[in-house]
Amino acid sequence: MGDEILITELNDFIFCPVSIYFHRLYGSLENMTYQSSAQINGSAAHEAVDHATYSSEKDIIMGLDVFCEEYGLIGKIDIYNKSRHILRERKKKIKNVYDGYIFQVYAQCFALREMGYKVDAIELYSMDDHNTYKVDLPEENEYMLRKFKKVVEEIRRFRIEEFIQNNGEKCRKCIYETACDRSIC
Ligand code: SF4
Repeated sequence: MGDEILITELNDFIFCPVSIYFHRLYGSLENMTYQSSAQINGSAAHEAVDHATYSSEKDIIMGLDVFCEEYGLIGKIDIYNKSRHILRERKKKIKNVYDGYIFQVYAQCFALREMGYKVDAIELYSMDDHNTYKVDLPEENEYMLRKFKKVVEEIRRFRIEEFIQNNGEKCRKCIYETACDRSIC
């Protein structure tokens, strides 16, 4: 792996480490060829943000590029409220608050703080049903912070040649299944 880890890869890695390689390999082709329609809908949730910098509301920053030196993470935040110090990540539909979602907002939080922004609250927002999920700050949840650090270390240590997939259910749900020689479907 390269030195820097994309924040989105924290979630990919938990699903399957090999998927990171496909994600990088297919890059922009992915939208056309490899994303399922559900995932395209999901990425549409972020499209406005990815092309925006500031919303019309002066206290809202959207789609800011961020870098966290401490953990070597790079990516974008979704929405940050400068006056209320709230970091928010929108997803199309949140059915479960997966660890990967929490690790992504932790990474964004650490990066923002390194860049001089205060973060006093973190939220996940489910766009389809308008539900908001409060997420503990990293310093409020030692257990999740430990898990976050462990995943970052595992990504750094990961060697694709040593990986053996043993969860066929994941492969069956995977958008890279037809291209992947590690699939056990
Ligand atoms: S097909 Fe299976 S092994 Fe390959 S990337 Fe997907 S989940 Fe991982």
